[in-house]
Amino acid sequence: MPDPKFDLWHGVNRKDIEWYPRVDEEKCKGSGICVTSCGRRVFRYDYRRRKAKVVYPYNCMVGCQTCGSLCPEGAISFPGGREKVQQIVAQWDILSRVKEELEARREDLEFKEE
Ligand code: SF4
Repeated sequence: MPDPKFDLWHGVNRKDIEWYPRVDEEKCKGSGICVTSCGRRVFRYDYRRRKAKVVYPYNCMVGCQTCGSLCPEGAISFPGGREKVQQIVAQWDILSRVKEELEARREDLEFKEE
């Protein structure tokens, strides 16, 4: 199931952001490394056809490309690279949201010398 904890990204409805992996079925040789490595359970595995399937695209962490980097066949692509991510960050004023978040979560996130 889509995970409700990923519904928002820095307060933005995740479904308003076009960022998720696409699997080229021709190139996919079924290693499954994307399926087992993604911590957000974006993929499921077609055991019969030995293909990775994107089933919950909006669980994907905006900006992450781990599965694409791991795929030995280069079968996974994203709507764009760093430029696309920076465009998303600017479009939704993510840095202002992060600034507020850092203050709100200071107790949890502050670095302290041991
Ligand atoms: S980019 Fe990251 S979060 Fe998104 S599907 Fe791939 S491994 Fe999972």
